[in-house]
Amino acid sequence: MSLQKKKTPMREQDPKERIKNYKEVPFGYTDQEALMEVERCLQCKHQPCVDGCPVKVPIPQFIQAIKDGDVVEANQIIKTKNSLPAVCGRVCPQEEQCEDLCVMGIKNEPVAIGRLERYVSDYNMERGSDKSSSKEIEKMKIPELKGRKVAVIGSGPAGLTAAADLAKYGLKVTIFEALHDTGGVLRYGIPEFRLPKTIVDKEVESIKELGVEIKLNVVVGKSLTVDEIFEQGYESVFIGVGAGLPRFLGIPGENLNGVYSANEFLTRVNLMKAFKYPEYKTPVIVGDKVAVVGAGNVAMDSARTAKRLGAEDVFIVYRRSRNQMPARSEEIHHSEEEGIELRLLNNPVAIHGKDGCIDKMECLKMELGEKDDSGRRRPIPIEKSNWVIDVDTVIIAIGQNPNPLLTKNTKDLDIESWGGIIVDDTQQTSREGVYAGGDVVTGAATVIKAMGAGKQAVESIKDYLLNKKDNK
Ligand code: FAD
Ligand code: SF4
Ligand code: SF4
Repeated sequence: MSLQKKKTPMREQDPKERIKNYKEVPFGYTDQEALMEVERCLQCKHQPCVDGCPVKVPIPQFIQAIKDGDVVEANQIIKTKNSLPAVCGRVCPQEEQCEDLCVMGIKNEPVAIGRLERYVSDYNMERGSDKSSSKEIEKMKIPELKGRKVAVIGSGPAGLTAAADLAKYGLKVTIFEALHDTGGVLRYGIPEFRLPKTIVDKEVESIKELGVEIKLNVVVGKSLTVDEIFEQGYESVFIGVGAGLPRFLGIPGENLNGVYSANEFLTRVNLMKAFKYPEYKTPVIVGDKVAVVGAGNVAMDSARTAKRLGAEDVFIVYRRSRNQMPARSEEIHHSEEEGIELRLLNNPVAIHGKDGCIDKMECLKMELGEKDDSGRRRPIPIEKSNWVIDVDTVIIAIGQNPNPLLTKNTKDLDIESWGGIIVDDTQQTSREGVYAGGDVVTGAATVIKAMGAGKQAVESIKDYLLNKKDNK
């Protein structure tokens, strides 16, 4: 029997319908679709796909368990390495990670590893069998670490992963989170139609069941300092506070009414729960014509959210070309299906307004030159190519830097000029016992990279605690 060349497709909401709601777009695999897809896996002995996964999910093994009809076991296999599989199955940039190294991808489409991971997680969440096996967790406990206290600052993917792995070793873990709810960008950044918040709730619940305590509304650096955390008897600290400070373009008109940072825009929509409470249907006012500047996942999410809030014309304005767009290809595809227009090779130079409100954005056309430090061809302005686009809302999605609140108020912590915490390759900071990872170290990156960093930090914290001089 010849192998199916393409991934088994995932059914999804019709674009015309879905722009009127916040429900998740793809439906996920049925049992039968998952069984079709697992047939495509070659069970490679050297398992290159695993090398592409920053948390090292045992991919061929979980796929084999689905093949054997044991989806509960498949979940247990995934959970040995990944504390947020339902999230990763949905939002990981698989094409740059596990699926990029899949042998099937050399001549055909790679195995749909992310879709299968989502299938396994959803299957088990629906049946209440999604928790890690207590027998497996018991095996991981290290007697010398039992009950010793470690603090985690931030409850995004980096912090949640670190907390889960620390708790599995038997440590007493407390997460300090600035906001009134957990999840970081998973909750207030990525929209409901890509990552339902019930999924985030369930993943967080599983982590709490490992014994992790979560203290909300604690802004470390303001209401509590890292020094005070140590004074409270915590022996080590992991910092995973992300990069929540939006960057701006620095062009005239950016202060006009109707200009949002993507952060503010998406946070308002997510936290005001437009999807749960119809009376809050427009927690943010958007006009008929919306321009989103940038082409990453954040930009796509902003554009698609603007569409759902009732905008008629939504444009993505990006200074590079299509194959340089950093968003997941699925997000670009979904955006275009929803009628989002791409205005590529254009850079905004000014936003113009009337009576304090926007009415136009002025752009300069660009062309691609030589490669720059990022390995991508540099966009070069074409002189006198200015043109204007009629808009009433502009959303700026060109990246974020870390918020300096914590770093400014923590002594002996070395930071980069742009605010990122400096760590070595074990995630250790310049301060003894303090580790960091995720967007606060790398700048805005991905969920799975933040999780990988959290995992690496836990190994370092474990070694640090086991080798500490004052160990009894
Ligand atoms: P965060 O998720 O930012 O979490 C940091 C947490 O720390 C937050 O809860 C914050 O409230 C808390 N905190 C901050 N300061 C303090 C303090 N002083 N004291 C206590 N707590 C504090 N990545 C993907 O892989 N795929 C995607 O599809 C994708 N889409 C995205 C869409 C959007 C809209 C955005 C904004 C990002 C997206 N990303 C995506 C990127 C990804 O979400 C981030 O790389 C990832 O969340 C970083 O994880 P983190 O744990 O480092 O930080
Ligand atoms: Fe792939 Fe992400 Fe799952 Fe790892 S966690 S196997 S990178 S989808
Ligand atoms: Fe299966 Fe692809 Fe991994 Fe090979 S590389 S084991 S085909 S998922």
